[in-house]
Amino acid sequence: MQEIIEGLIRFQREVFPQQSALFKRLSTAQSPSTLFVTCSDSRVVPELLTQTEPGSLFVIRNAGNIVPSYGPEPGGVSATVEYAVKVLNVTDIVICGHSNCGAMTAISTCTNLEHMPAVQSWLRHADAAKAINASRHYCSDAERLAALVQDNVIAQLGNIRTHPSVAVGLVNKTLRLHGWIFNIESGEMLALDGQTGKFLPLAENPEIYAV
Ligand SMILES: [Zn+2]
Repeated sequence: MQEIIEGLIRFQREVFPQQSALFKRLSTAQSPSTLFVTCSDSRVVPELLTQTEPGSLFVIRNAGNIVPSYGPEPGGVSATVEYAVKVLNVTDIVICGHSNCGAMTAISTCTNLEHMPAVQSWLRHADAAKAINASRHYCSDAERLAALVQDNVIAQLGNIRTHPSVAVGLVNKTLRLHGWIFNIESGEMLALDGQTGKFLPLAENPEIYAV
């Protein structure tokens, strides 16, 4: 914790003065262009990966970069999606999974989660990806996990489309959905190409999007 507080003090003394104009401008309003949904994993840092400043990304983070389908009892993720689309008018939504994801590892290895009932319940929002993954043959656990990370991003893109605000944005073509996967070891980002259903290197295919 000491390291974190020392970092905060360094931020206040050295970094904030250089960005005071930006924070002054942001002090009364925000207009981020993008809702970025990713895992809580400490190694995935949206602003670092995208080299964006405060005010650019509206972020939702949770275990497994999950967006529950819209339902009669919407929770925090649903409320945040609705606010991003209806109030902030974001034009893009990124759902970003990553390599070596603990949540996806638990699913792909069928880890017993009975001692973590909240996690067990939460990961049921990835059941479609789990079922697809279980129905296919893979040569190794690593291959199975990598495929599940992809299948989960696709499943969550499906889930988020059930949200009324997102459905309206897609019909009116004011909203675009992106499915990304970050490789922690290489720094590479793959993106889902909605045309082919394949994940391709984003750097070489900057025009592709999911929906
Ligand atoms: Zn993760």
